[in-house]
Amino acid sequence: MKETSFDPIDLFLRSVREMPERPAVHVDGRSWTYAELDHLSQRIAAWCDAVCGDEQRVAVHGARTVLAYAGILGVLRSGRAYVPLHPDHPPLRWRSMLTRASVRTAIAPAQVHAQLREAGIDLLVDLDGLPSAAARSNVRGSREAYVMFTSGSTGEPKGVPVGREQVAAYLQHVCTTYAFSPEDRFTQFFALSFDLSVHDLFVCWGAGACLCVPPADGALQAMSFANEQAITVWFSVPSQVALLQRMRLLRPGPLPKVRQAFFCGEPLPLDLARAFCEAAPHAQVVNLYGPTETTIAITEQVVGPELTERVVPLGRPFPGHWARVRTGEALATSGEGELVLSGPQVNAGYLGQSSASFFEAGGQRWYATGDRVRMDPEGVLHFLGRVDEQVKLAGHRVEPGEIDAVLKPMLGDGTAVTVPVLRAGATELATFIDVEMDPVPLFAALRERLPAYMLPSRIIVVDRFPHGTHGKLDRKALIERATHG
Ligand code: AMP
Repeated sequence: MKETSFDPIDLFLRSVREMPERPAVHVDGRSWTYAELDHLSQRIAAWCDAVCGDEQRVAVHGARTVLAYAGILGVLRSGRAYVPLHPDHPPLRWRSMLTRASVRTAIAPAQVHAQLREAGIDLLVDLDGLPSAAARSNVRGSREAYVMFTSGSTGEPKGVPVGREQVAAYLQHVCTTYAFSPEDRFTQFFALSFDLSVHDLFVCWGAGACLCVPPADGALQAMSFANEQAITVWFSVPSQVALLQRMRLLRPGPLPKVRQAFFCGEPLPLDLARAFCEAAPHAQVVNLYGPTETTIAITEQVVGPELTERVVPLGRPFPGHWARVRTGEALATSGEGELVLSGPQVNAGYLGQSSASFFEAGGQRWYATGDRVRMDPEGVLHFLGRVDEQVKLAGHRVEPGEIDAVLKPMLGDGTAVTVPVLRAGATELATFIDVEMDPVPLFAALRERLPAYMLPSRIIVVDRFPHGTHGKLDRKALIERATHG
């Protein structure tokens, strides 16, 4: 018997063959069938082949149009890897990413071509510039599927290349564990520069289902969108639902068709999961967990009636993967410590930089997540927090050190320290500096380089930073001050 391939493009092409006339994506007010998306992505693949030569990576501007979805497919079909660019991120950030990933070509709407040229792109194409037709097969070139960038504490975004095999390992597990069908309608809330979007696209297309793309500014309309689009498969960060709850938009019952809901990206409070179950009474809710470095998600926990902890556990690793708890040098199968992971979904490391987060032990390669967990005797993982300063803001990964590093050159001998602050149920950032300075140019510098979600809400001047008994910076005191000051 022929083995089923879970390569993302093979999955898509199987649906093209089996159900060409079914809708593959609903975006910008219209649906595109599998046959139409196939054709468009072939034209994009042909463009890539014509202009990219040996170049293995192509940027895809992540505006919510069919061009982006066909762009991702086309780049992968040409045997290359895609580098998604968030439409709202500043061009200087794009530049930093494009330089690190050595990208010179991009698929993007014409209105941003000038900006992308400034960011270092030489060759660009919009829908209008594509070759009219191109019959071509699925060429296997690069083993890399995409490069996603996450916040890096050195002041520049950090590139995480992920291979097609790693994506295939993820898809194999998810597509076979949870039953999806061509009748399904998937949400596509995640930005294409967030790796959870890869789940949306390829789990959906692997099932021959329809991907439903809400407008970029539609967070508060998520419930009515899901209802109008007859969504059956929901996937979001918990804070998206928490926001709806705070706005009193999460009511019992409006999502009767949702039968499968996934959450990932940050801790899932049990009461929030239960409230979502009331809104979507037929949904099975699953908490997924995983850093970008381990490809989309790597552990899972179904939210059942037996759960009692305040935060839903991370559950167990996907089959074929190993989770251990690291304390010092030792890797244990139970107890508290830093979660380290091994298996086919762990990526090859960062772009152009080595990192102690990837290490060998017992003949295996491991990734140290920086997450503090408890592994119980049944092997179930429970999230306790971080071992470092990394924070999540509405699901976005933020290294406060990146903000501090951007400010550093403007502060002379001074220093910046950014801390997370909980305000009205949501986390925000506050930056302390130890030099008397006008914050306006500091904010301007931050806005030039960082996405909006990474901007501190305040810059606070202190005479000097508080230190603990061992001379270590007392971050807790700063958090306390930002919270109550
Ligand atoms: P990212 O690489 O942006 O996907 O962020 C990965 C980080 O998000 C992890 O290392 C965790 O700190 C956090 N995270 C992801 N999923 C969960 C979850 N289900 N529960 C708690 N934290 C999570």
